[in-house]
Amino acid sequence: MFDTILIANRGEIACRVIETARAMGLRCVAVYSDADAGARHVQMADAAVPIGGAAPADSYLRGEAIIAAAQATGAQAIHPGYGFLSENPDFVAAVEAAGLTFIGPSARAIRAMGLKDAAKALMEEAGVPVVPGYHGADQSGDTLSRAAEEIGYPVLIKAVAGGGGKGMRLVERAADFAEALESARSEARTAFGNPDVLVEKYIQKPRHIEVQVFGDGTRAVHLFERDCSLQRRHQKVIEEAPAPGMTQEMRAAMGAAAVRAAEAIGYSGAGTVEFIVDGSDGLRPDGFWFMEMNTRLQVEHPVTEAITGVDLVEWQIRVASGEPLPVAQEALTITGHAFEARLYAEDVPAGFLPATGTLAHLAFPAGCRADTGVRSGDTISPFYDPMIAKVITHGPTRDIALSRLRAALKGCEVAGTVTNLAFLGALAAHEGFARGEVDTGLIARDLDQLTVAPEVTAADLAQAALVATGLDGASGPLTGFTLWQPLARQVTLLADGEVHVVTLRVIGPDHIRADVAGEEVACERLGSLWHIGGRPAVAAHREAERITLFRAHGLSLSILDPLARAAAAGAGADVIEAPMPGLVKAVFAEAGETVTEGQRLAVLEAMKMEHALLAPRDGVLAEVMVSAGTQVEAGAALIRLEAVEEEAAA
Ligand code: ADP
Ligand code: ADP
Ligand code: MG
Repeated sequence: MFDTILIANRGEIACRVIETARAMGLRCVAVYSDADAGARHVQMADAAVPIGGAAPADSYLRGEAIIAAAQATGAQAIHPGYGFLSENPDFVAAVEAAGLTFIGPSARAIRAMGLKDAAKALMEEAGVPVVPGYHGADQSGDTLSRAAEEIGYPVLIKAVAGGGGKGMRLVERAADFAEALESARSEARTAFGNPDVLVEKYIQKPRHIEVQVFGDGTRAVHLFERDCSLQRRHQKVIEEAPAPGMTQEMRAAMGAAAVRAAEAIGYSGAGTVEFIVDGSDGLRPDGFWFMEMNTRLQVEHPVTEAITGVDLVEWQIRVASGEPLPVAQEALTITGHAFEARLYAEDVPAGFLPATGTLAHLAFPAGCRADTGVRSGDTISPFYDPMIAKVITHGPTRDIALSRLRAALKGCEVAGTVTNLAFLGALAAHEGFARGEVDTGLIARDLDQLTVAPEVTAADLAQAALVATGLDGASGPLTGFTLWQPLARQVTLLADGEVHVVTLRVIGPDHIRADVAGEEVACERLGSLWHIGGRPAVAAHREAERITLFRAHGLSLSILDPLARAAAAGAGADVIEAPMPGLVKAVFAEAGETVTEGQRLAVLEAMKMEHALLAPRDGVLAEVMVSAGTQVEAGAALIRLEAVEEEAAA
């Protein structure tokens, strides 16, 4: 066994690996970028080595710097986590050439699964069912469109080098094929440096069911399946294990196919074989097809750990150190059901835009496993994935595990950034999901219902007004009201884009009445605790003008200065600003150009996603203030339209 390992990653996965390694008695070395000098994974490690600038290319993707850090600190092995260098065969080869152990599969196995076309060909040979389609070398438009005809529409075009849902296009009819092919290719060229694509049958009512496998280089076992069908734009949102509706027969067939896939490439360590399943007619043993294999630990591995009792990171470290597989297939069993929800800093009403911010307060409720890489006071920066935590629950039945997930999501406390908590909560409460009726189209179909604005109650506003005026203290006089002023104060609050005015009136030493749009809410201090409208106040946090109430899923409000607001109204309408910090990828317009409403003017890339910036109205561009390649802050002015004549605007 090793005595020291280096973790070549950051965030929640680095912390999660350190926890297990530490429990095994190993010394842990962290690496960090300039942006992460004070990060949680650095604090948790026994030693930490700086490896460069904030951008991944300057730090977490610098294989040679990471290997040098391992050598300098006496680490014998490197755990790659997921993302970054975890599926880079050249890095694996370099680690081994330096006399160190890579905690993961061989470079050869990673290469075999690296490209989706080659992987599909290999799996066909190994007798694993693959999605019907074309994955040949001839990339001419004619060949590909003919293949699409033969497969039968709808078809899916996929970048062979794709990942994270990029470079993928659904094509419903032949007339749209050429254009979809062009855009898939260009996205693939930009994102992966490889424009090649494959074409496959688009499975109806698709479910994403994947099988966790584990190999020792010769033999492999499977640790059952996970259902990851709740996706938004091909990205997983909530995962669970086992899959709802799974039969013994189909589980055996999928498990056997996944083990065949792993053994066909001499797989060592943890891996995931992803299948697409036709869910239109229940689960059938002949209704699943290989999509791809991820040759690493998966983000959603905790749900498998919860139902099997296996610590997958412990297995990874033991097998990498030369031990055989810890148990045989027969010894693995499923206990209960588990869910994982991915909590992100993102602005759901704005179209799920990734957000940044300093987490003024962060706390997780009891009754769940929260895997996180941040603490209160830490910053979600624009450089990395904006994940705050993974919230995992387990229970003896699916119903119980799901109700525990709902409770856990209600109890998460995050202040300092917007989050997708309310969206996750709505999803966890979705009736079809509760019945186990999942498919990858569920979120898109019911998006309106899943993203309704949280109801802002009179009690919420009354409590926020108390916090805004500093009157929410546990004891002491109700300061701010003096005898020679009227015993009333007005507070203007902004919640979810709406302005609310609350009037507070002091009735007695421990009694305030709040007027909220004609509704009266009694606020009484009983002992040291305020009761709002007869119910105990929830915990709250204030940072400058932002107030967060930790009621179910949290509610964020801002205190408005009514004068400043009137002055700001109307200004800035002609300026297109960066909705978040990011990199300007492309600019399609020039000063002097006439544009029409909705025209794409520029593309901003931030945190794994590209966002088109559109013209807000018809007009002429007065000024283009950025060019491709510029890093911009949130709110930076990018493009200005010529002002419209006063009369015309009126
Ligand atoms: P999983 O199947 O394990 O859920 P994801 O597709 O969510 O995998 O990706 C796992 C990790 O890989 C992400 O958290 C991220 O760190 C990294 N990743 C995935 N796609 C990209 C991408 N396009 N650019 C950068 N990192 C990515
Ligand atoms: P990535 O490398 O981006 O993860 P995948 O091949 O795993 O790409 O596909 C991502 C997602 O796209 C799947 O989880 C599924 O929701 C959807 N998908 C992929 N292939 C198909 C298909 N043939 N039919 C329907 N949906 C598909
Ligand atoms: Mg995938």
